[in-house]
Amino acid sequence: MNTYPRLEIPNTLAAGPGPGNTDPRVLERFVQSGVADHMQADVLRGMVECKLMLREVFGTQNIHTFGVAGTGWSGLDAMMSAVMPGDSVVAFVNGTFSGIDGLTLRMKAATAAELADNSMDPQAASVKIISVPHGESVTADVIEKAMDEHKPKWAFMAHWETGSGRANNIQAFSSACQKHGTMGLVDAVSSLGVENFSIDDYPGIAAWASCPQKGICCLPLTYAPVSFTCEYIDVLKATGARTFVHHPILEARHWGIVDGADVEKGTYHRTHSGYAVAAFHEALRLTLEETIAGRADSYRFHEAALRGAVESLGCTVTSNMTSLVVLNLPDSLTGREMELVQLCRSRGFGIWPTLSAPVQIRIGILNQLNQNAITDIVTRFAITMHELDNKLAVNAATEYLLAYYNGEEAAA
Ligand SMILES: *Cc1c(COP(=O)(O)O)cnc(C)c1O
Repeated sequence: MNTYPRLEIPNTLAAGPGPGNTDPRVLERFVQSGVADHMQADVLRGMVECKLMLREVFGTQNIHTFGVAGTGWSGLDAMMSAVMPGDSVVAFVNGTFSGIDGLTLRMKAATAAELADNSMDPQAASVKIISVPHGESVTADVIEKAMDEHKPKWAFMAHWETGSGRANNIQAFSSACQKHGTMGLVDAVSSLGVENFSIDDYPGIAAWASCPQKGICCLPLTYAPVSFTCEYIDVLKATGARTFVHHPILEARHWGIVDGADVEKGTYHRTHSGYAVAAFHEALRLTLEETIAGRADSYRFHEAALRGAVESLGCTVTSNMTSLVVLNLPDSLTGREMELVQLCRSRGFGIWPTLSAPVQIRIGILNQLNQNAITDIVTRFAITMHELDNKLAVNAATEYLLAYYNGEEAAA
């Protein structure tokens, strides 16, 4: 049997749609936490404090607000756990991630026969997938038309579709759900901690799920924030869920939520990690210190800088999220997107292509909210573009940034 040398992983610049660069404060809590089991008093206290902070981050009074161990898909799986075979569902899909959410819903709502017929991609008759082209948002018109036609038990939408970088109309979605007595389910994986919103302002939406490593700036495989209304919990209690580990009522117990009420400390659901709890706790403290509104302003400001800089290089931006730009290269580089992305990535500059057609480039600014960080991202991108097309004027981008940031200083 071979033994391998110790695994060394280099530091890279995570400048994609997520994961973002974990904040050093969060990493420090992860590394410096003592060895303690999942029922140790400070771990349990930390989980209760996380739960309370999470309610503020979400802007909610929902008692069933907590973290699901894992990443975004773990929280989303818990969120969709109440969807039963044969349930009627309308799912709006406008990119890679909502596409996978739609697949999850088809798996959960498929009858046994439908699942056996095509288990990896079941065609559940009770699920209507409303496809919106890549690069477009899900708009009020599309939402209202589909909801009026199908009046489903459940409806699903991504708040921000990270695959194509598009923000969807959450207000219209909530209103349409209310109008038809539908329970709305929202993938807020890439909007929580980036956009300024309070989920209680959207009463048609019964459940929300996010992730640790995007707007919340925590480590992947810590905790995916989720929040459920009482209505969702009542329906779940009535019809059940075919999961123990991701059962929202059962999982909530370890966070000190029992019989729909807060209790002083949690009871065992699964083994939690003190390291993960400490990291998540610090990430939430950091979020609340900076405030959701402050972060949202900062993302808006620095995304505009990045957008202007790549446009000055001849790129066309097609996204409207504030943590990410999704762009088409100038004509001289069309078709060389993957080459450019690979070259950047080989140098520890982690940008991304789109994961479904058409091939575009995604550059993210998660936890990179200052002039130096944006300038670093833009410079690395411009220099690599220049290697593929030496007629390109790299200076255009850095000059744009200087003027942008100086202009803002002058205005202030
Ligand atoms: C990143 C992302 C996911 C997947 O989350 P993981 O953390 O990779 O499990 C799902 N939905 C959206 C909108 C995302 O941006």
